Amino acid sequence: MKVIRAKSAGFCWGVERAIGIARNHADAGKRNVYSDGPLIHNRQMMEKLEAEGIHEVGDYQSRGALALDSEGVLVVRAHGISPERREYLKSLGLEFRDATCPDVGIVAGKIRRMARNGYSTIIFGDHDHPEVIGLLGYTEGRGHPVESEADIDALPELGEKVCMVSQTTMFTDDFAKLSAYVRSKYPELVVFDTICGATKARQSDIEVLVREGAQAIVVIGGHHSANTRKLATLAEKSGLPTFHIETAAELDSGAFAGFERVGVTAGASTPDFLIDAVCEKLAAM
Ligand code: SF4
Repeated sequence: MKVIRAKSAGFCWGVERAIGIARNHADAGKRNVYSDGPLIHNRQMMEKLEAEGIHEVGDYQSRGALALDSEGVLVVRAHGISPERREYLKSLGLEFRDATCPDVGIVAGKIRRMARNGYSTIIFGDHDHPEVIGLLGYTEGRGHPVESEADIDALPELGEKVCMVSQTTMFTDDFAKLSAYVRSKYPELVVFDTICGATKARQSDIEVLVREGAQAIVVIGGHHSANTRKLATLAEKSGLPTFHIETAAELDSGAFAGFERVGVTAGASTPDFLIDAVCEKLAAM
């Protein structure tokens, strides 16, 4: 079978950078590195990193006592954190390294500037997602996560100064629709399209796979990764049979009988070694 691999498949630059920072400090297992919540949403990669001395500690929102080696390094993952969380983590006294993706940092900067000018901020995103939780910390208490028109209808009256941003990994079409809906209620709304370039490329690459003649699409990534699940939903919307798998072991050759060309893409936290294994197995079918 011919395999068409999306150019954007696999780690985005923000995840790659965070892993690089953690690995540099782990120094091939000589030092303990701690990340506040999983460094990336991929079980296989987390197991690999754990073996290199990079540990996920606790729940990224908790303040419970953490048993950390005082010689270790605390790394903030690509999703970023709120200013309050930053202060708390720094108070733990370990060496502190911030691996927040610069694209998330730009969103935080825009929110902070607008909040200081008296704006309320509507964030299009998942209210449970660590990136959104971190960004809310920059809104000076005037932040509102929304995912739907119903959420927007339920907002309190926000006055005239309202701005809107997006979690960096949302669908561009959904953001355009929801921001238009918010503007119908707040005509002076200031909109910042903060979906990151890596996410946009990954979304538009689905169309490229369709144009290149893929008859089915395989999306690789953690079943619990929001980013990968969204990608699978987008692939389904293309009308092609879509298979969301975590590893090559989940590929069922019977399900691919009759396909000659298959497109492969992967979430931002899917390592190359998993993508390579899937492509090899598909090619051999
Ligand atoms: S998905 Fe975008 S914002 Fe998030 S880490 Fe990757 S490049 Fe950065």
